[in-house]
Amino acid sequence: MKFQSKSTYFTLAILVVIVTGLSLHQKFSITTSALDTYPSNIILFIGDGMGLEQIYFGQLVEYGLSNTSSILSFPYNTTVSTANVDGTTTDSAASATAISTGVKTKNGRIATNWNAKMDLTTILEIAKQNGYATGLVATSHLTHATPASFAAHDPSRGNYQEIAEDFSQANVSVMLGGGFEEKYIGNYISDFETLGYEYVTNETALASVTDVPVLGLFTGGSLPPLQTMLENSTIPTLSEMTIKAIDLLNSTGQPFFLMVEGSQIDWAGHDNDEIYLAHQIIEFEKAVRYVKNLAEQNSDWQLLVTADHETGGFSVKDYSFITEIPLETDSYTEKLDKRTARAQEVDVGWGTGGHTDTEVILAGMGPYTDQILTAEHHIDTFSIMRQAIDGETDPIGSDFYLGHLPLYFYYLIGLSSAALMGTGLYFILKNVIRRRQNF
Ligand SMILES: [Mg+2]
Ligand SMILES: [Zn+2]
Repeated sequence: MKFQSKSTYFTLAILVVIVTGLSLHQKFSITTSALDTYPSNIILFIGDGMGLEQIYFGQLVEYGLSNTSSILSFPYNTTVSTANVDGTTTDSAASATAISTGVKTKNGRIATNWNAKMDLTTILEIAKQNGYATGLVATSHLTHATPASFAAHDPSRGNYQEIAEDFSQANVSVMLGGGFEEKYIGNYISDFETLGYEYVTNETALASVTDVPVLGLFTGGSLPPLQTMLENSTIPTLSEMTIKAIDLLNSTGQPFFLMVEGSQIDWAGHDNDEIYLAHQIIEFEKAVRYVKNLAEQNSDWQLLVTADHETGGFSVKDYSFITEIPLETDSYTEKLDKRTARAQEVDVGWGTGGHTDTEVILAGMGPYTDQILTAEHHIDTFSIMRQAIDGETDPIGSDFYLGHLPLYFYYLIGLSSAALMGTGLYFILKNVIRRRQNF
């Protein structure tokens, strides 16, 4: 073979560029497994601000050393990174967006990418497109960052009116939480009702609901802290909302996706208030326990528990209990008082009033949850959920985004290195051939 012209060298160099580019594309296209079972029901629990130490603390207060938190006894568990696209410590908006869309973003973003130029399709929306009934349950007002990142798109978590408007068009089957004040969802309640939603504002009315869609807003803003709630309160607890949501979604006959948030674990962390924390984490644990029992009887249910980030730099230092553990047979008030007393009998430490970048739990059971063992970041939680819906793993829009950075960034690196290699090859070949010709 004889190389005759300069154009041959250039053709070779271009070929190298193309082949390198193609192999790079292959490397960054995630393959899909199509053989496993889907669609599966998906129940995702998010403990806002719930670090591992917070979970241990809740276990210690509620069960002592004799029993295990349901959160800590899943067949699969790991810890995952919560870092944002720019490496910064996350807030609830960016982290919920990473979980709900599989794409890392910046603080404040509600299911939009880092520069807010692109709406990111959420797992709830993908579920809906696949015939799922869907639900959101939270103890904050529903326009708050975590639930918002599943059914709204906005550059800023503070744009409650825009988020509420998105909600009113999102066709979520069950929405339970707080926020009937005008600055949250209030202005849009009539829009929900026009669309056929049953709107309820107390526990009794919620209990009588038999069909979806339903909008339950039980407080003007967020739900009150549990330690201040009386037994005869007309506001449902997280467990009560979760039980009702599962009941309603399950009765649709469709597969369902449900996100349940323990919203105020985070606020207890910001306040460095371990009594507030104990009640919130135990309530969250009870809600998980209820669904876990059901998931054990339904092998096609995918149940996941995670946290968006840790709050407070919390640690359990020592404990010396005088108060007995709460018993099932105890009255409402007895349980409440015992939890408060036992929380005070634990010596705890707080490192900050803000969020930390400590890794958080990802635990679960059911279809595809063995992949928890190799999960590294919130965005992997998205992939595990998406597989249970349609067998795919990628975020929608992954042609442009590889999880966190625009894909063209990788192409740019790939193309420039390929161009360099091609140029190098060109000169080597040129030299070799020149020598041959000289012989
Ligand atoms: Mg939250
Ligand atoms: Zn927070």
